[in-house]
Amino acid sequence: MFKINRNFAKLQSNYLFATIAEKTKAYKAANPAKDVISLGIGDVTLPLPPAVVAAMKSAADEMGRKESFRGYGPYEGFEFLRQAISSYDYKARGVEIAADEIFVSDGAKSDCGGITDLFDADNIIAVQDPVYPVYVDSNVLSGRGGQPVKGGGYDNIIYMPCTPDNNFAPELPSKTPDVIYLCYPNNPTGSVLDYDGLKMWVDYAIKVGAVILYDGAYEAFVTDEKLPRSIYEIPDAKFCAIEMRSFSKTAGFTGTRCAYTVIPKSLKVGGVSLNAMWMRRQATKFNGVSYVIQKGAEAVFSESGRKEVSANIAYYHNNAATIRKGLTDMGFTVFGGVHAPYIWINTGADSWEFFDRLLNEAQVVGTPGSGFGPSGQGFFRLTAFNSYEKTLEALDRIKKL
Ligand SMILES: *Cc1c(COP(=O)(O)O)cnc(C)c1O
Repeated sequence: MFKINRNFAKLQSNYLFATIAEKTKAYKAANPAKDVISLGIGDVTLPLPPAVVAAMKSAADEMGRKESFRGYGPYEGFEFLRQAISSYDYKARGVEIAADEIFVSDGAKSDCGGITDLFDADNIIAVQDPVYPVYVDSNVLSGRGGQPVKGGGYDNIIYMPCTPDNNFAPELPSKTPDVIYLCYPNNPTGSVLDYDGLKMWVDYAIKVGAVILYDGAYEAFVTDEKLPRSIYEIPDAKFCAIEMRSFSKTAGFTGTRCAYTVIPKSLKVGGVSLNAMWMRRQATKFNGVSYVIQKGAEAVFSESGRKEVSANIAYYHNNAATIRKGLTDMGFTVFGGVHAPYIWINTGADSWEFFDRLLNEAQVVGTPGSGFGPSGQGFFRLTAFNSYEKTLEALDRIKKL
């Protein structure tokens, strides 16, 4: 008889978003006249930039003509897109990443999950706490979690607390990890790491022989030129780090799907190239991103594309600043929201209690911090992705509490 992957049974149900949806639905059913505003969504709301739409339309036309039709594309993505990424996302910022070190994919989430294929089941994983749940769950499924711990987490995973006390930059763990996940600008805390903070991790990874998986999904939200946007701004990172990025939050591609992963050719272990391994893995499990979508992604780097993307990010930044100021004026202690679309609020209470209060008394929905890990208890995440008008209205209601 066949056996299932028993690691599925170890996954701890993350009831976070389901519970939020249920509670919101119940409230709406009981109070049909009330208008509920969500500042909980981790999804963009502005439409695709016109330059992207135009490029996708023209690519669709090409696909409809015999002489320009295309079938399967390269597993690693079209050269035109990888070259554009290399030039605009790296070279323009003083970082040399060659086109053949870039792998285009359908999402940073798929890559965060799939990359675990490269590593032995015995590797010890370290994650930030609070954490984007994909890193943990994908490792649990591939047998690296150990046993679930009562109250949350897994006994084989190293959780590195990120709190106001350490400025959301975790200390080096006491037990040595093999694979370290870092996410900056951070979801959910909205925090960033400066050059020295990031260099500390690169130096540490090289010293202990660990690999860093760096999730830069929100790099486009960094406004301070002095802050690193790529881990490769630390030169030694080319020997110890893989970087994942996405067009999702940068250019509104959450429903369009396009992202990329960088694996430098100098990243080797025992003479084996991780770049070559990932190429082999993609060739086995992935058949590339649609030509139409990659043409749309390329247009993000065109002159008009860059202008339109910047305007959208500026819109979200303005929402974030408005939330930050509004809440600070009300006396809350808030973090993030400057180089990230997330505002992390110290509620001074239980995260879920705060959720219930906001929903019932202000009709505003956010995300309880405790849902992202034990160190998120007492915190609450609001996002800058709703409209400016709704954001103002939500703040007005919170003020009246
Ligand atoms: C949204 C997000 C991603 C992006 O995922 P896609 O699959 O590319 O849409 C990756 N990492 C984090 C932390 C995110 O919040």
